[in-house]
Amino acid sequence: RAYNFNAGPAAIPLEVLERAQKELVNFNNTGMSVMELSHRSKDYEDVHNRANALLRELLGIPDSYEVLFLQGGASLQFSMIPMNFLKENETAHYILTGSWSEKALKEAKALGETRIIASSKDSNYSHIPTDYSLDGIEDGAYLHITSNNTIYGTQWQDYPTSPIPLIADMSSDILCKEIDVEKFSMIYAGAQKNLGPSGVTVVIAKKDFLARAQSNVPTILKYSTHADNKSLYNTPPTFAIYMLSLVLEWAKAQGGIKAIQKNNEEKAGYIYAAIDDSEGFYKAHATQDSRSLMNITFTLPNEELTKKFLAEAKERHFIGLAGHRSVGGCRASTYNAVPKEACMALAEFMNEFRNQNK
Ligand code: PLP
Repeated sequence: RAYNFNAGPAAIPLEVLERAQKELVNFNNTGMSVMELSHRSKDYEDVHNRANALLRELLGIPDSYEVLFLQGGASLQFSMIPMNFLKENETAHYILTGSWSEKALKEAKALGETRIIASSKDSNYSHIPTDYSLDGIEDGAYLHITSNNTIYGTQWQDYPTSPIPLIADMSSDILCKEIDVEKFSMIYAGAQKNLGPSGVTVVIAKKDFLARAQSNVPTILKYSTHADNKSLYNTPPTFAIYMLSLVLEWAKAQGGIKAIQKNNEEKAGYIYAAIDDSEGFYKAHATQDSRSLMNITFTLPNEELTKKFLAEAKERHFIGLAGHRSVGGCRASTYNAVPKEACMALAEFMNEFRNQNK
């Protein structure tokens, strides 16, 4: 297997793929694949409910929250949130920490009043802003943040204490560390990084927040439609939800979120150490206080060395290390499914490459 450092869709645990392979043509003695089951059948319903229950257990989601499985990716949430929650005469507040936050803001702007509370755009999103105030936003509809900035390699360490509903796009760090769900009115995430394959989007939302939604929204775009129908209003992405359930079972078998967090800290630690010990050969894009556990961004002294690094990395089966064009350099995405050995091997390769090319 390749050492898969892709930013998304990203690595899936080998054990999960092998189990899915084993169950592919005859799931649970049904004589059918999961993808062939009716979404109204008991066998599928069990898969659907298990995914919901496991996510609740792993993240410690209280009963006062809904867990929804939607489609349209995290990108549809950029629009669904203001459609449902940004009323006339209200303002939606955004903290910009990267281009995914910008995209979320753009959709809200098209639908109502918005305000940027803080932004680190001036430094090419190298850090999470700390110099902002939430005073005076009490009448706002909600405050939106992006908890982890996939492209820039920054991550919120302490979430803001917001006087209005806090909504977080956790697409690239959900389930990577312990969080206090109750700080948020809504959390959403496309599954294709830490949760499974693309095709399903997880929404975790406080029931009393959902109750505030406006009614003049098309049925399929109303959160209440999906909450009232247990995410079975229309045909859900059944196979993606099945894969999600297997990834969550795997996460539980790893020892749950505490153990996963510890593992992620060690994994990222090897690679950050290779950067920090390189005497400036590798430079981290993110400032020290904003470093992500999930996406590690760094540059090399010049373009030529970057190309050479990526070519040699590829020969050694390190995949997906090219940085996003807006940052350049390299990016190692170390999502939950990326094994510790892959991160150790990458750090070793980085040290070796530096010694040969400094
Ligand atoms: N938000 C973040 C933080 C992301 O990293 C991504 C994709 O990489 C998205 C949103 C977009 O997700 P989707 O492709 O599911 O719409």
